[in-house]
Amino acid sequence: MDCIRIARCDTRLWAGLLSGLHYEEENVNEHIRRNSGIVLAAFLVLCVAEFAVRVPVAGAEGGALLRAGIAKIDITPDKPVLMSGYASRKELSAGVHDHLYARIVAFESGGQRLVLVSTDLIGLYNAFEPLRDAIGKRYGLKPQEVFLSSTHTHSGPTPLVHDGENASNVEYTNGLIAKLLDAVGQAIEHQEAVQFGVGRGYSAVGMNRREKKADGSVKLGRNPYGPTDKEVLVLKLMKQDGTPLAALFDYATHGTSLGPKNLQISGDVLGLAAQFAEKILAPSVTAAPFAGASGDIDPWYRVLPGFRTENGWVPEPELLGTLLGEEVVHVFGGNQATETQAEIRTAFATLDLPAKKGDGNQGAQALQTMPLNVTVARIGKVGFVAVGCELLTEVGMAIKSGSPFGETFVITHCNGHAGYLAPAPLHAEGGYEVGSSHFAPEAADMLVKRAVEMLQGLK
Ligand SMILES: [Zn+2]
Repeated sequence: MDCIRIARCDTRLWAGLLSGLHYEEENVNEHIRRNSGIVLAAFLVLCVAEFAVRVPVAGAEGGALLRAGIAKIDITPDKPVLMSGYASRKELSAGVHDHLYARIVAFESGGQRLVLVSTDLIGLYNAFEPLRDAIGKRYGLKPQEVFLSSTHTHSGPTPLVHDGENASNVEYTNGLIAKLLDAVGQAIEHQEAVQFGVGRGYSAVGMNRREKKADGSVKLGRNPYGPTDKEVLVLKLMKQDGTPLAALFDYATHGTSLGPKNLQISGDVLGLAAQFAEKILAPSVTAAPFAGASGDIDPWYRVLPGFRTENGWVPEPELLGTLLGEEVVHVFGGNQATETQAEIRTAFATLDLPAKKGDGNQGAQALQTMPLNVTVARIGKVGFVAVGCELLTEVGMAIKSGSPFGETFVITHCNGHAGYLAPAPLHAEGGYEVGSSHFAPEAADMLVKRAVEMLQGLK
């Protein structure tokens, strides 16, 4: 029996007692009403005694009332910008297919805080540290209380902060930092008590992209039988009057349905999924997307030249975004979101993981370790692990299976940008992700062990 049910039991009994025992909603109360006062007294004593004994325990386990505030801002560039994700693309953006957004959910429970920020960007890159520091300074939030994440769309602007870099990108990025800083404040201001629940769905929109060729090499392509985390986790938030507020969803796919020839700004699959879910669910709902462990996962249709808009055609990025968004809507609809209390706990560590030798990192000056930011949190029974890198899906799945929480959001491109991190067996196979990784083969197992320990430390 949890704290809420105990509290209801107690309330109903008292209500029944005070109203002359006309409370007949449940069979047990009906039975009590028809029987002697001794039975009623015994039941009352047992229930109240249990309430008295269990409340402190339930309070410790269940936490205080969960409060959440939400902000959503448009972060679409209003000038042509350098686009991110493909070194071969030198042209500036030439239009907007769909807008980019930042969505912020600021949680609070019993004085503990957690702010989750989702941005439709490739990553915050060099904007991460200035933004994190500014958020800490203005709102007093510690590094472990802030998740600054991106969906890794390859059809958005490249964040640039240094003088001499593309001027419109630097202007965009400085404006972005200021807007995000204000938006975090808006989310904190709007905090109110919420009901919440987490649900799980599945989607085949993402596919392993490590295609094995006849000569034994691994190339970027399609590997339909390769490991793919198909889980769609949805954290549903409602106001206490039942008005739906937010759907925070986590899914593992790159934002690469569009390739280097595309010059239209777009949130790609995750951004389009969020827009679809918001359109379908209710005007009051903000759907915040988070990229799961998707280092080796591409959308089903990948690196297309652009949006095909011929008559009768559903452009593939919209098709895939709609499919994923449908699953978010489906999971959201199936969740009653009845929880009201949750403990928030957070932790942050910069791990020094072994660096890969070779490829310019060799000789006497070779780096021995590579830093990786890992941020963990819990909201009640839901775990969150954020890594500041591109985690291959196998590593994310290993963290999920070792997690002490029933549902664990693994969030990549969050609080850092350390490049690909691949499991040891894939180093022998080679391929793009392994070749461009800065981490040694043993780094992945070390990360899994440490991330799981950090999650266990939140229990
Ligand atoms: Zn990537």
